[in-house]
Amino acid sequence: MLTPEQQQAVAQHLNTRAQQPTCPVCGTTSMRVQRDVLALPTAGADTSDIRRVIITCTYCGHDMHFDPDVMGLSLPPSTSEA
Ligand SMILES: [Zn+2]
Repeated sequence: MLTPEQQQAVAQHLNTRAQQPTCPVCGTTSMRVQRDVLALPTAGADTSDIRRVIITCTYCGHDMHFDPDVMGLSLPPSTSEA
């Protein structure tokens, strides 16, 4: 889960990039930062899940995934999120 501050940080990160984020499906720029974080299982038993921040187009529902490390977010381990 992202705190409201982290959601804001994600939105600011995207807004400081060259272009305003645009949905590749419908072309609108209305995006929402989801509170929930995606945790993709990896093959190794000892490796941690791959975490992705979810940005959803509020017009068509298309999801986009971003690396929280690149965005400068430090997220707690997924095991604590149950
Ligand atoms: Zn869309």
